[in-house]
Amino acid sequence: MKFECPHCHEKTFNPLQKALCGSYRTMGKPCPNCGKRACNGMTGIYFQTVTSVAMIAAILVIYFKSTERIYSSIIIGCIIAGYFVLNFLFNMFFGKLVEPIRKMK
Ligand SMILES: [Zn+2]
Repeated sequence: MKFECPHCHEKTFNPLQKALCGSYRTMGKPCPNCGKRACNGMTGIYFQTVTSVAMIAAILVIYFKSTERIYSSIIIGCIIAGYFVLNFLFNMFFGKLVEPIRKMK
């Protein structure tokens, strides 16, 4: 399973490399074939927005409903970790690689 570079259209990125390219707001990573930078497109940003809203809502509910402070902080920790894992996995397998909006100086 490989992903297409937005510049040379060769399938040069494996899922892990794709995830490490970062979101649309980052500089991205250079393609091993053509050396031009690629990053994950807008779908990653939409997914991140949805999951961060869900995460904040879940944290607030747990924080205000829970009486067990220790357990609730463990659960909140798991939710935050899950959020990062979920977004990383999303960038690995979903969305397209695009040209970063930020350019090299
Ligand atoms: Zn390329």
